Amino acid sequence: MKLIAYHRPAALAEARHLLRELGAAAMPLAGCTSHSFVKGDEERIGVDLAKIGFDTIERADGGFIVGANARVADLQAHRAPGWVLDRVALRFVSQPVRNMTTLGGNIARIFPWNDFPVALLALNATVTIAGEEDRQLPADIYFDGQPARHFKAGDILIRVFVPDVGAGCGFAYRKDTLVSMAFSRLTAAVWLQREGKTIRDARIALGAAVPLPLRLELVEEAVVGKVYSAELIADAMERQIAALRWRSSDAFSEEYVQQLARAHVPDALEEAFRAAGGGRK
Ligand SMILES: Cc1cc2nc3c(=O)[nH]c(=O)nc-3n(C[C@H](O)[C@H](O)[C@H](O)COP(=O)(O)OP(=O)(O)OC[C@H]3O[C@@H](n4cnc5c(N)ncnc54)[C@H](O)[C@@H]3O)c2cc1C
Repeated sequence: MKLIAYHRPAALAEARHLLRELGAAAMPLAGCTSHSFVKGDEERIGVDLAKIGFDTIERADGGFIVGANARVADLQAHRAPGWVLDRVALRFVSQPVRNMTTLGGNIARIFPWNDFPVALLALNATVTIAGEEDRQLPADIYFDGQPARHFKAGDILIRVFVPDVGAGCGFAYRKDTLVSMAFSRLTAAVWLQREGKTIRDARIALGAAVPLPLRLELVEEAVVGKVYSAELIADAMERQIAALRWRSSDAFSEEYVQQLARAHVPDALEEAFRAAGGGRK
């Protein structure tokens, strides 16, 4: 991709107007960290979103409203009861890339190694896109495929509602990399609600090892409403592994990432279960 012109609008309305006028040639720019991954020399006109705002993290009823322009470094630095994205940001490649990358850019186009689509799917976030009218898309709809299909010319992702992880709930995040700054081979996130020894509700999301992030619905169905049991989870994992299409590369086989799933998903479930019980199993 070649940027042949550049605009820096000062407000959302101006940015939307420019994107609509320029049509298919226009490209919203956020942290610009993805450009080295986009092959080809197609000419595009950059519309930089850095000055339109939407870069704060605010408390809201039951969660947090995070502006799409908030940087991963902001998510890492934020502290509040029920806020867990700092833990996801900590596993994000490196501080220089955390300083540049925005939450919006990370979820507007999904690369296999992206951390936040997996975490936000588990947390049941809601994404707001500004278009002719603002549209709010629950994570299950927004992440059901590449998000580009939700955007028409002029549409801009502006904020994400992230539910807090409240009392009786737990969250765990796992990312398997060869060395700390390498791309993920498997990413897993678990949100879980417990009552005594029983798992009342669970959302388990997987990324990197599969073509696009998805929920492990067979495992969720097997554990919800049941007393926590490592055997039950292991058994459901085998059925889930057999049902999924896995992503492999020259560096790792399908069997290898399946083995990573066998190790990391039950581990994350146990951590989330303990966290939901205040450290008790
Ligand atoms: C060396 C390296 C390693 C990396 N490792 C990781 C990693 O381990 N985990 C991880 O999660 N990420 C990682 N990344 C970042 C990831 O690959 C993407 O580059 C990043 O998520 C893009 O975010 P950005 O803010 O830079 O967006 P940009 O690159 O500016 O934009 C990305 C895409 O989203 C669109 N877009 C951006 N904002 C909006 C908006 N508000 N509304 C509509 N469309 C929008 C753009 O038009 C573009 O198509 C890495 C990047 C690099 C360079």
